Amino acid sequence: MIRSVFIIVLAMSLQQCSYSQNNSTNNNSNKMDSTNKKAGQPKPGNPVYSNSDTSTVALTEEEWKKILPEEVYHIARQKGTERAWTSKFESFFDKGTYYCAACGNALFKSDTKFESGCGWPSFYEPISKTSIINTPDNSHGMVRTEVQCGRCKAHLGHVFNDGPPPTGLRYCINGVILDFEKAKQAEKKYNADGKEKPSN
Ligand SMILES: [Zn+2]
Repeated sequence: MIRSVFIIVLAMSLQQCSYSQNNSTNNNSNKMDSTNKKAGQPKPGNPVYSNSDTSTVALTEEEWKKILPEEVYHIARQKGTERAWTSKFESFFDKGTYYCAACGNALFKSDTKFESGCGWPSFYEPISKTSIINTPDNSHGMVRTEVQCGRCKAHLGHVFNDGPPPTGLRYCINGVILDFEKAKQAEKKYNADGKEKPSN
C-alpha cells in the first residue's frame, strides 16, 4: 500500500518535472520530499486534501498514518520538529501561498514571510484568523504557544512574540508541513514570456 502510494507520487512528480525545473531553478531540488508536490492539485492517496474545501477534517490517527508521508505524519500528528536549516523553504522567497501539506488548507502568504535566522520558515501573520489555531504548549519545560492547522489540526510549529512589525509575531513553522503554490500572476508572466520575471 505505502509502496504503491509512493510510486504514484513519484509518477506525479515526474509529470511535473518540466514545469518545476523551469519554474524554480533556485530551489534546493535535491530535497525531493512531499514538499516538492505542487499545491493546488489533489494529492494521490490523500482524499481530504483540498485548497478550497474549508470544512473541518477529523480523521483517526490510524487514518492519518495511512494517507500522510512518514515525515509529514511525524510533524503533523506526533508534534515532531524538523532539524533546523533543513527546509528548502527556510531561505525561499518566491511569491505565492503556503498550504498545509496534510489537508491543503491555505496558511500563509509569501509576503508575510521574513528572514528570522532561526532555521525554520518564519511568517509574521497567518492568511486569516481561522487558518490556524493557537494552543498553549507547556511541554519540554517551556511556556510556548503551539500553532495548528485550522482545518485539520496538524501541528505546524510555534508562535513567538519576537517578530517584526506590524504584528510583532514570529510564526516558526516546520517546512515539511508546508506546500507552496507560486502566485498566479507570476505563472502567467512565466507562461507568456517563456521565462520567469520578477513580479512587483
Ligand atoms: Zn491541515
